[in-house]
Amino acid sequence: MEILQSLEELEWIPRPKLLALRRLGIETAEDLFTHYPRRYEDRHQFPEFPREESDKPICLCGEVTKTQLRRFGGWKKIFEATIQEPNANALSQPLVCRWFNLHYVQKMIATGQQLVVFGKPRLRGKRICMEHPEFEVIENDEEMSIHFRRITPVYPATEGLSQRLLRSIIHRLLSELSDEPLETLAPAGLVPGERRQAIRTIHFPESWEARDTAREHLVLSEFFAMQLLIASRRAESSARPGVAHCGRGELLEKFLRALPFEMTAAQTKVIAEIRRNLAEKQPMNRLLQGDVGSGKTVVAIAAILLVVEAGFQAAFMAPTQILAEQHYAVLRRWLEPLGVRLSIRTAARQEESFLPLVAGDENPNVIIGTHALLYDNVSFSNLGLVVIDEQHKFGVAQRAQLTGREPAPDVLVMTATPIPRTLTMTIYGDLDVSIIDEMPRNRGKIVTAARDESKLGEVLGFLRKQLEAGRQAYIIYPLIDESEKLDVKAAAAEFELWRERLHPFRCELLHGRIPAPEKQEIMERFRRGETKALISTTVIEVGVDVPNAAVMLIENAERFGLAQLHQLRGRIGRGEHKSYCILLTVDQSAETAAKLAVLEKTINGFEVAEADWNLRGPGDLLGTAQSGLPALKIGNLIRDAHLMRQARTAAMSIFDTDPCLELPENQRFRHLIVEQQGRIFSHVS
Ligand code: ADP
Ligand code: MG
Repeated sequence: MEILQSLEELEWIPRPKLLALRRLGIETAEDLFTHYPRRYEDRHQFPEFPREESDKPICLCGEVTKTQLRRFGGWKKIFEATIQEPNANALSQPLVCRWFNLHYVQKMIATGQQLVVFGKPRLRGKRICMEHPEFEVIENDEEMSIHFRRITPVYPATEGLSQRLLRSIIHRLLSELSDEPLETLAPAGLVPGERRQAIRTIHFPESWEARDTAREHLVLSEFFAMQLLIASRRAESSARPGVAHCGRGELLEKFLRALPFEMTAAQTKVIAEIRRNLAEKQPMNRLLQGDVGSGKTVVAIAAILLVVEAGFQAAFMAPTQILAEQHYAVLRRWLEPLGVRLSIRTAARQEESFLPLVAGDENPNVIIGTHALLYDNVSFSNLGLVVIDEQHKFGVAQRAQLTGREPAPDVLVMTATPIPRTLTMTIYGDLDVSIIDEMPRNRGKIVTAARDESKLGEVLGFLRKQLEAGRQAYIIYPLIDESEKLDVKAAAAEFELWRERLHPFRCELLHGRIPAPEKQEIMERFRRGETKALISTTVIEVGVDVPNAAVMLIENAERFGLAQLHQLRGRIGRGEHKSYCILLTVDQSAETAAKLAVLEKTINGFEVAEADWNLRGPGDLLGTAQSGLPALKIGNLIRDAHLMRQARTAAMSIFDTDPCLELPENQRFRHLIVEQQGRIFSHVS
């Protein structure tokens, strides 16, 4: 049998099971081989039954001595199966396994059976229980050796396919696979071992060490294929015909002299990197990463000035109306005195900051806008630079709409979402990366403190003192997502409450249902200091800059993610005042405490991002869907970060050092990727 064998042609696979497999997108032997185990159980020898509870799940084997179905609360049911240790002694305690409202479990388990269970032992009264353990009934068949007395694979659960069946099918497929070595798509020496062996071992390892080596092989080749795709994208985009867009720098000089502050060393370094790119014909594709408030906008202005001086236009795209307006205001303040013509295009507004001498005579040098820049028929006469703020709100496809034209404009993507480096290498892998890793020196400190809701009284006292001292405050109320049904009445009630609490200071309410022009006025009044406290949902999340706002109170902080809390906190600490972020919570769980402690400990966004990953696990791979990259089947971006670096270096060097590797060769690689990694990459190319 060959690896690309279609499962349909194998008559020994029961037809209904074939359908269940197809629902998972599994059609060939290879698809099944890359349906990797989720975990393993060492079934050589089972541990003794526990006498205490533990947070670590364990795998036990025993005989079912009793089953019982109990009803409670009318229609609800609990099914209990008691299992006994094989060589039970006087000290042994039976284990009670319980399933709530799972009709099918009770049909599968009967007294006298041998059962393998996996779960966390819990103390319930005096009994040791497992709630909803995974389980497998041992049958005395000839397949015993596949399921027991070995390190046994456990697969992602699938409807209509038991672990046993999946395991048996994969086992048989592997034994029928021809002995021909399988080619691995990777340079010699990068991955250990041979692919066919690695596939065998990942499913049925002889030892944990063998499993680790096999896994490394498969992870590296998965990462390599991904990085190859990224490298080819990168090579393709820099091979597009481009133009040098860099002026002499006199405008930039004037701008820097007029600034009331010194650039940080990091800003200066990044501007130099951008300047080099602008001066080359090869199109720039650069990501600018910097924590909120690190001064990315000034860097963008520097790039814009160089491009405008060279006679080209710049586009500046922001994710929301509020931010586009804010950028427009900031850029006007700095650029109009230098004679630069600006205009804004959003769904709500079109305006030029200058009066054309003759209608249609003058084009703006800089066009600022939202998505409207993509869809409106904004005509650029000679677009030289595209700046995209807060990239994570735009998808790759949208980015391409603005940047895909010819000749290719230079592109600067800015993001304040700190992400671990491995992820940057992946979702932004086709971009060069500049990092502003330093905050302007004049910044007041941010102190973050988590407080139980019961302390609201003290917190209010503190808040009022800050307002009396002339500061302003954000109060974020717990409507996480604007798409969550906003109960306008509840918001109004919330607002009334805050108005009383903070009387006589002027408060305003801000949320996503307020029409854009009105929202704009509310922000403006806050910016001017007329409004002292802004009661708001997360619409103020990104990029808003009000230096006098030095206090942020976040209600129900437990409902927000770490990254989002960090983003929100970035709205304060923007001026010279010491700032305070107070995280109010009603949740006393250990998880929430651990989460909020991260924010109390550090204000460094990258540290927050790493901690977030460690707490949550990499389960949800932020942004991969938008990046157009396939989901990983085996690699883990935290655990395998070092392998990603190896794969990246190898893939990049193929494109960097082999100038002959133009498109035909490139195509061959794509073809190989598709063939070897099957479905994984097909939708990308
Ligand atoms: P970001 O976009 O990275 O969140 P901004 O560019 O909006 O940050 O800058 C935040 C504030 O800091 C702005 O008011 C800006 O004028 C100011 N700023 C930028 N660079 C410096 C600097 N080097 N020193 C002092 N203030 C700065
Ligand atoms: Mg910004």
